[in-house]
Amino acid sequence: MTPPTTRDNQEGELVQVPLSALEHYAYCPRQSGLILLEDAFTDDAATVRGTLLHQRVDTPGNRGRGSVRTLHALPVWNDSYGLTGICDTVELHADGRILPVEHKSGRYHPGGPADIQAAAQALCLEEMFQRPVPEAAVYSAADRRRHRITVDDDLRTRIHQLTDTVRTMLTTGALPPPAADSRCRRCSMATGCMPKVLAGTRRYHQALTDLYTLNDPQDDAP
Ligand code: SF4
Repeated sequence: MTPPTTRDNQEGELVQVPLSALEHYAYCPRQSGLILLEDAFTDDAATVRGTLLHQRVDTPGNRGRGSVRTLHALPVWNDSYGLTGICDTVELHADGRILPVEHKSGRYHPGGPADIQAAAQALCLEEMFQRPVPEAAVYSAADRRRHRITVDDDLRTRIHQLTDTVRTMLTTGALPPPAADSRCRRCSMATGCMPKVLAGTRRYHQALTDLYTLNDPQDDAP
């Protein structure tokens, strides 16, 4: 029997990575680790707003409007990448186009973590529908606009690498270190994560190590 790798679970199957974990990891690896490894998700005003927004789009079903059929809360997967998740909204256009739309309550940041999540949904839909899905979109409730994303080769490579990185974190159980930077100000996990305290602890240990590092005796030789 082939021994399990850092990609596989104990049954030798590829460990599945949730789509949302890609977004969390892209924002802060530790945030993703706290949620996946320690089940430590914490709500704040922003996440509650997000939850309320998702409640509006997370009712499974489909609606038709003109030449577009809209599916809500659609379970999706990509077996090659080992990705699974749920799309807020997927539009099926009469001309054959498929467009996943991820809904966010906050401001849109071009090239940010939401792009990763929406593009990863496109990769799932490609495999499921066996047709190219070259675009995805992020709807920002903050500006009430839909932002289009081109699912190009760079983004595909990034998603592939990120999926492998998250999978390794899941199989090794190693919690990433805190970011302890401006990201923490907007993070709902800050109270439990204590990034400054932990970062300070690392600095403290480094200072101790530096203080007691023994000099090479030859340095002291006359
Ligand atoms: S508080 Fe900072 S380090 Fe901790 S999970 Fe949030 S962003 Fe990451």
